[in-house]
Amino acid sequence: MPHANDAPADVTILGAGIIGVCCALSALERGLSVTIIDRDAPGEATSSGNAGVISPWSCVPQCLPGVWKGVPRWLLDPKGPVKVRWRDLASILPWTLAFMRNATPAKVAGISDAMDLLMRDNVEAYRWYLAGTGHENLIADSWLVTLFRGDLRPDLDDWPWKLRRERGAPVEIIDAPTLQEIEPAVSRAYRSAVVIKGQARARSPSTLCKALAEKAVAQGAELQLNEVEALLPEADGTVSLKTPGGVISTKRLVLSAGIWSAKLLRPLGIKLPLMAERGYHLEFPEPGVTVNHSVQDMSAKIFLSAMTEGVRVAGTAEFADLNAPPNYARARALEPLVKRVLPSLNTASKREWMGIRPSFPDSLPAIGPLPGFPSLFAAFGHSHYGLGMAPATARITADHLTGMRSNTDYSMFAPMRFPKCRD
Ligand SMILES: Cc1cc2nc3c(=O)[nH]c(=O)nc-3n(C[C@H](O)[C@H](O)[C@H](O)COP(=O)(O)OP(=O)(O)OC[C@H]3O[C@@H](n4cnc5c(N)ncnc54)[C@H](O)[C@@H]3O)c2cc1C
Repeated sequence: MPHANDAPADVTILGAGIIGVCCALSALERGLSVTIIDRDAPGEATSSGNAGVISPWSCVPQCLPGVWKGVPRWLLDPKGPVKVRWRDLASILPWTLAFMRNATPAKVAGISDAMDLLMRDNVEAYRWYLAGTGHENLIADSWLVTLFRGDLRPDLDDWPWKLRRERGAPVEIIDAPTLQEIEPAVSRAYRSAVVIKGQARARSPSTLCKALAEKAVAQGAELQLNEVEALLPEADGTVSLKTPGGVISTKRLVLSAGIWSAKLLRPLGIKLPLMAERGYHLEFPEPGVTVNHSVQDMSAKIFLSAMTEGVRVAGTAEFADLNAPPNYARARALEPLVKRVLPSLNTASKREWMGIRPSFPDSLPAIGPLPGFPSLFAAFGHSHYGLGMAPATARITADHLTGMRSNTDYSMFAPMRFPKCRD
């Protein structure tokens, strides 16, 4: 097949979700020329429908000690926060066992440190990216407000708060009157909350991604709409891209194709435990009420946020085959949960959405070179945390691309850290 491009850019980035777009900006900052390839417009896949939380303190992995205790109850409740399609159970089991093996206090502490490294300056990074674009208001100052209903009371020694506090997060408990002052639309049945200040929230995650892609293009990046059918390793160590219109050469390739990344690597003999963990949202365009911060009901496992598109409630972890059709009953199951939090919410009109989190069993992404393929770099697998982790992922990727030595050890993000990941 003839090559469709003569002179490839210094870096080709496959995937224009929030990870790929931030990688493009960081590569441009280092003086590299960039081509971004996606089959869709930027920010149309998982990066469009998330809960918008940008927290420097998102250092709490999914694999917490004792997490297994809730699993049987969640699985038996068809509307519960975790769902496994029974026909996919056999393929999901090895990942689940690996996930459980990470749920020890020692492992969780190391994972939390690694997450902290990727999160710590994310708010400043987004503000810096957006400065001068005219889109500065896509990021709003925010707190994380975690609600406790009825007689439930927060215990700051529980893992989600303990891990954050140990890493310096300003975690405080507030009482019912203070909660009403901060979030007047929240039901009075919630009588206390944990508040973390100094965060931000995206007011439209998809528009944010598009605005950052526009900035990359204004700085000289080329944005190509194209479907990549396969990665083709070449004799000179580069990787070309098979597309319907021909083969595209690359000099260095960043793979930031979210959940689809592992499938593209499979024919190269690389077998990574990347799980399709589907999440859903419901969005109410005429809500009649608002929320001022990122609001979480931890027992229902939902996040609420006021977006430019309406009030959004996001949640659910549904483990299913990558190509399984969405089950929008999962999105609709969020409605009674959000009504418990916001009793006056107008639910007359609503939009449903499903997106696929690319999740490794240790809650950490794959960032860095793929051994055996000297010009191929991983930047995927950000599970529940991709919006928050994107700027630091992009900086580390730019370090790898430019051969810059860092004093920080990045081995916990090594793509091949898992057992048996090569044929
Ligand atoms: C319900 C929900 C709530 C969430 N809330 C938060 C939150 O509040 N904060 C947070 O930090 N994270 C959150 N996340 C996680 C976050 O959304 C993801 O981690 C992040 O969006 C992943 O970004 P990405 O760029 O890796 O993937 P994607 O956004 O999926 O982008 C991958 C891109 O690659 C392209 N692509 C793939 N294969 C090909 C191919 N073969 N050819 C061409 N193009 C291709 C796709 O079209 C897509 O545009 C949430 C996720 C969900 C589901």
